[in-house]
Amino acid sequence: MIDATHDPARRSWVTSANGHDEFPIQNLPFCVFSRSNATPRIGVAIGDEILDLGALAKAGVIDASLAPACSETTLNALFATPPEARGALRQTLSAILDETAKQHAEWLTKAADCVFHLPARIGDYTDFFAGIHHATNTGRQFRPDNPLLPNYKYVPVAYHGRASSVIVSGQAVRRPNGQRKPASETVPSFGASRNLDYELELGIWVGPGNALGTPVPIADAASHIAGFSLLNDWSARDIQGWEYQPLGPFLAKNFATTISPFVVTPEALAPFRIPQAPRPEGDPAPLPHLFDAADQALGAFAITLDVLLLTPTMRATGAAPMLLARSNTSHLYWTVAQMLAHHASNGCNLMPGDLFGSGTISGPTPESYGSLLEITAGGRQPLSLSSGETRRFLEDGDEVIFRAHAAREGYVSIGFGECRGVILPAPAIP
Ligand code: CA
Repeated sequence: MIDATHDPARRSWVTSANGHDEFPIQNLPFCVFSRSNATPRIGVAIGDEILDLGALAKAGVIDASLAPACSETTLNALFATPPEARGALRQTLSAILDETAKQHAEWLTKAADCVFHLPARIGDYTDFFAGIHHATNTGRQFRPDNPLLPNYKYVPVAYHGRASSVIVSGQAVRRPNGQRKPASETVPSFGASRNLDYELELGIWVGPGNALGTPVPIADAASHIAGFSLLNDWSARDIQGWEYQPLGPFLAKNFATTISPFVVTPEALAPFRIPQAPRPEGDPAPLPHLFDAADQALGAFAITLDVLLLTPTMRATGAAPMLLARSNTSHLYWTVAQMLAHHASNGCNLMPGDLFGSGTISGPTPESYGSLLEITAGGRQPLSLSSGETRRFLEDGDEVIFRAHAAREGYVSIGFGECRGVILPAPAIP
């Protein structure tokens, strides 16, 4: 899967791409963008510019079989194309952006002048729970002696989230009102969440779907994944703690989920695939329908994930956002192929543009925890910030920023762009 498009020596005539921290020519993530309120178009990030795929299709430089999908206003049709066609498009894009190719400045738009939109019409959104350190840390708060429930190492646990409130990076998040019942109170009250949190997750975009009633074999599962973004599963912990039994998350989660606008393809991530970490001694092997030797050998990713916080005080003083945690996708207990195969194992039909969250990706130590729930031990140990402030949970005006990079010696590092959202005060209670 590694080819000339990953060649570290390859450079682009888009000079800002050469040495770019996020979008060198080796990356080429898809996005949906617009300028000056024009109709959204499909683009590819290259350095500080966006390459207009619709313009390329019109100019006839994209294969006729893919030109219609590239001329759409969302990525759904492109996601529906098989990996081979997507790979061929990557070859075309890499070739026309190569520094030896003819320059076409008319196909470029400065990213700084663009508005970015949700990459796809999201039919369904599913949130997994595959970060085992997060599952252990949060489970321990409820069951100190038995943090992981017996199903965890057999089932890639998940719940159905809500697609309508998935928003794109940069859009503000309104603090939710809801029922809160701390242990100190006997009855719940309705009001603004006091324990608003983020969850650091990998977003997984479903590519070609499967027919209702037709499971996806684990060996084929990776070919049904079209790409990856960063995902913030905003969580109101006080609402969650009261409402979640017995059916799981509901209003504590579905008020907003933020996604980064760039879709990094499986092809771009090929050099950064790593073996799935061996299961600890004593853990059960995955059941056969979730086990594939090739997936175990190369189904995980080496992607560093950062969480940063920018408070109103930091913003006012011109201070840089503070790094709260650095984690890595290698901490996922299940591969993305196992998540997808499990999701379809009962015949559930997945559709191009469906979105998965991986589950919060925490590492084993506090500086790698992917939520404030873990960092502050449920709010009991406030976090000291570089600005001299403290936080139990998020305050109004706080902005949470995720960044991610894949790196491997001998290859050019690629980034995901940012996933950010600022917290607005809760709406007035009528
Ligand atoms: Ca989550």
